[in-house]
Amino acid sequence: MDLADHLSGMTTTSHSSPFTVAVTGASSGVGLYAAKSLADRGWHVLMACRDLDKAARVAHGVGMQKEQFTLVHVDLGSLTSVRACAAEISARSTPLNALVCNAAVYKPRLTEPERSPEGYEISVATNHFGHFLLCQLLMEPLQRAPGARLITLGTVTANAEEFGGKVPIPAPANLGELQGLEAGFRAPASMIDGGPFKPGKAYKDSKLCNMIVSRELHRRYHASTGIVFNTLYPGCVAETALFRDTPAAFRRIFPLFQKYITKGYVTQALAGDRVAQVVADAKFAESGVHWSWGNRQNGREAFSQPLTARAQSVQRAERLWALSEQLVAVRA
Ligand code: NAP
Repeated sequence: MDLADHLSGMTTTSHSSPFTVAVTGASSGVGLYAAKSLADRGWHVLMACRDLDKAARVAHGVGMQKEQFTLVHVDLGSLTSVRACAAEISARSTPLNALVCNAAVYKPRLTEPERSPEGYEISVATNHFGHFLLCQLLMEPLQRAPGARLITLGTVTANAEEFGGKVPIPAPANLGELQGLEAGFRAPASMIDGGPFKPGKAYKDSKLCNMIVSRELHRRYHASTGIVFNTLYPGCVAETALFRDTPAAFRRIFPLFQKYITKGYVTQALAGDRVAQVVADAKFAESGVHWSWGNRQNGREAFSQPLTARAQSVQRAERLWALSEQLVAVRA
């Protein structure tokens, strides 16, 4: 079933689910299975995706019914598109009970930085700036829903408290003194720390920003709004399309390595269900937490995983926030 089939005979408000969640990047991997798991729990899912034909097709492919989801276009790499998406979601009459910032690109084989329409390096533009702006623009509909949650996908490789975050290939996440952002982040700047372009590190840096921003959202807004702001690491989901730009041999070996050596492997369905738990379950209602199931974790309970002291520095978070705010022109 494609987009035209999906849209025929339905309006965007024809559902009667009590809760609504917007999931970015719901057309693949963790986001798709999170959407499915939330739909199975009775939530209505706004699938915020860049390719709506694909999103409709894969949603039906995993068994979602047309009344369980609404498609909303967004290209997270384009600030104009993010604004249009936020306007579309905000215009809905129903409150927004949850937002899941899930979409991401990982482009480890780029030799030159790819740029967003605004001229920013594409991993940071998509994963960090796009979500940073979206979160701010959707605070109003989230505030209309008591106990709303804003959940962001973090990752082990951006958290130096975990073994995965110490792996030096290509380089650990490191925002330096934010020199690249301070310089305006347009060419020639391509890395947040102002250093030479390293595409794998650009992804890790952007995910570290996601985790820092979630903590800063918590610090700024949890007490006054009641919104729960959390991040999570759902496990290593080695078979998603995130790894589409890695060499074919890597894509064959990586799932086996994760399954049998690190034991960090989880299926896309389990990872999606973990996201749904953090969105919907009462035990995850505490705000300001990075939830993890760790590695070697099948069957293990979720726990609150510390971030590094640098990732928790309020002074740094405030500077990252201020620079990001300038670069995405939140109040434009
Ligand atoms: P994935 O299968 O590649 O899914 C990424 C999603 O993001 C896709 O729906 C993709 O859309 C969407 N996307 C990419 N660029 C976009 C843009 N410019 N605008 C809108 N949507 C865009 O990857 P995944 O593994 O599920 O990753 C999902 C999240 O989990 C990411 O935040 C990642 O950092 C996190 N994570 C993953 C793992 C893992 O092991 N895979 C581990 C920890 C955390 P298309 O379908 O159109 O490509």
